[in-house]
Amino acid sequence: MSEANEKFLLGLTLQELTSVAEEAGQPSYRGQQIFEGIYRRRVENPQQISNLPQSFRGTLLGDGFSVGLPKIEKKFSAADGTVRYLMTLADGKSVETVWMPEGDGGEAGDGSEAGNEEESRRWNRATICVSGQVGCAVDCQFCLTALLGVQRNLTAGEIVGQICAVLNDQQVTLPLDRVNVVFMGMGEPFLNYDNFMKAARLLVEGVGIAESRMTVSTAGIVPRIYDFGAEPVRPKLAISLNASNDELRSQLMPINRKWNLQKLLAAAREFPLRTRERLTFEYVLLNGINDSAQNAREVAELIRGLRAKVNLIALNPGPGIAFETPAEERVLQFQRILIAAGVPAFIRRPRGRDIFAACGQLKRTVELQAP
Ligand code: SAH
Repeated sequence: MSEANEKFLLGLTLQELTSVAEEAGQPSYRGQQIFEGIYRRRVENPQQISNLPQSFRGTLLGDGFSVGLPKIEKKFSAADGTVRYLMTLADGKSVETVWMPEGDGGEAGDGSEAGNEEESRRWNRATICVSGQVGCAVDCQFCLTALLGVQRNLTAGEIVGQICAVLNDQQVTLPLDRVNVVFMGMGEPFLNYDNFMKAARLLVEGVGIAESRMTVSTAGIVPRIYDFGAEPVRPKLAISLNASNDELRSQLMPINRKWNLQKLLAAAREFPLRTRERLTFEYVLLNGINDSAQNAREVAELIRGLRAKVNLIALNPGPGIAFETPAEERVLQFQRILIAAGVPAFIRRPRGRDIFAACGQLKRTVELQAP
């Protein structure tokens, strides 16, 4: 449990850390040294920032500063190399973060053959899936996180801290050019927009992960899509489409009653893409609900003309979820129709389903582990 005067360094910008140094009577470049210590070198406590004078380290500790890394409470390892981390935050609440070696087959590795590497072999590329809220308020009918409701937003430090904690646990060394980050864990990032964006900037400037290696997924918080497009530094954008018409989407994703497909697709069309950048649309396939040939044709129609690809995700099942996973052939048929209509479509390989680490399965719980 945190003490009343406990203060965390993670989450503070270079400017804020510079103020911390100056207020302690230190030269301002000490702020830069703390910044590099906590983000680039990913120290676990202020004592380890070895280029700071011992006396200043003591002052930081005395003033109640700690780094503020979330604690890895439990790790679940899947047969495919995926690791689901249960992380405890300072107030005792917990979130989940997922490590996927070899990429997730959807965001970074579209179309690639991920291969059957032996467990022992080092990964070539990895994706970290990070949470942005404790629980989620959006209430998508097929998602386990929705069953929790939303408890609170994560701070920028808690978002960055999940990534630092996983990188440390996996002993990842610099440069981080083979690590991708997806903001696709628990919660809706665009309902915690400022903290999410602050975390994204700290990841770029501090931790050293390029903006082009990060993707944020939204259920469709339309005003924030416009804000996001105007950001000078930003990850790539993915939109959870999940249905091909308003009637269906409003049933599956109640948020569609507030921002319907017309509004959502208008925001997507106006989104300023960088050179060679594409939008991603995610589409969870639910057997007999949204996975027909007609649905596929409607999707192609909706996104016609957009520089975009579709990632198809066969439902990852879970307790309390009233939908079924479609057969492989239906997933392939859906993909074929999109491709025939000129829409690049990929099937996102489920990662860590056996440990409840796959999309829509994160539920901050230990009792949900596989039998
Ligand atoms: N709240 C954001 C970030 C979560 S991303 C968003 O909705 O985009 C998680 C992705 O997994 C979303 O595209 C979501 O549609 C998908 N998903 C949710 N539940 C799922 C399930 N049970 N099986 C497969 N995909 C699921």
